[in-house]
Amino acid sequence: MTKAASFASLSRDIATESDAYRYLERLRWGDIPRCAHCDATEVRYIAPANGVSRKTAGGSMSERRVWKCASCRKQFSVLTNTMMHATKIPVRTWCLVIIDMIAAKNGISAHEVSRKYGVCPRSARHMLHRIRETMAGPYKTLFHGVVMADEAYIGGDPANRHAWQRERDGEKDGRGTDKACVVTLIDQDTGEVRSRVVGSLDQWNLGKIIIGNVEPAGSVLVTDGWKGYNLAGSYFSKREVVNHEAGEYVVNGYSTNAVESFFSQLKRSIDGTHHHVSVKHLPRYVAEHDFRRSTCKVTDAQRVDILAGQMVGRLPYKELASH
Ligand SMILES: [Zn+2]
Repeated sequence: MTKAASFASLSRDIATESDAYRYLERLRWGDIPRCAHCDATEVRYIAPANGVSRKTAGGSMSERRVWKCASCRKQFSVLTNTMMHATKIPVRTWCLVIIDMIAAKNGISAHEVSRKYGVCPRSARHMLHRIRETMAGPYKTLFHGVVMADEAYIGGDPANRHAWQRERDGEKDGRGTDKACVVTLIDQDTGEVRSRVVGSLDQWNLGKIIIGNVEPAGSVLVTDGWKGYNLAGSYFSKREVVNHEAGEYVVNGYSTNAVESFFSQLKRSIDGTHHHVSVKHLPRYVAEHDFRRSTCKVTDAQRVDILAGQMVGRLPYKELASH
């Protein structure tokens, strides 16, 4: 499915705010609505008096679809306990931004969202961060089999650096050097990508990331020739080193090409779309790219399904407010 096709069909599916609620209800619950508080299935839809919308506390009309649980007696909507909990932005806008973000190879900027959908830049930035948090998902299973690992220095907002620091370091292009290191693992069988941001890169940090995400018994660790991987590699059943400095790109059928192309895409996106990413926010940008690369073999519509499955938990606004 192309970006245009999925985007057009989704736009048709969610022509109104209540359509957008129904769309999310289908994604989150399928045919059986469940209580967002206690997971019970004995729930009842509370239709608004006029059949379409109800008055909010602020006096405006809302098409929010509200349900009531027979078990815990609480009210809820499909947004309860998701990234959209208590949002003031139309749910239809959220859905369109999610699709935009999933389909755009380099991601989209808060500025673009603000301009296209008429939300204020602060809210746009907050929406994007919440979607990224959801993309980070709950990791449960360990990688197993052939696993590629690589690292790269990425990010750093030059605005955080003083002119004298840039001058001292001889920077001509104004790019900052307060960068963080991203370590990325790719499971060759499933294509799943997991990245972690670390302040300093040493064999202990690398070991923690790799052993925390991979079952080493029965697995092969494929890396470049850097010695920092030797500690983690010693736990694996097999270790393959592709020594780029010696002009090697494929060794015994193993290569690190996939993880290197991941980094070039990530750098392109951060330089081209976002321009500056502070180290603080880098884990979320990286999670967005992990999600997009992990799901690159499925359609955009299926990606939205996957994201909907991960749509639990809320990111407190105050964590993001100081951008
Ligand atoms: Zn309940």
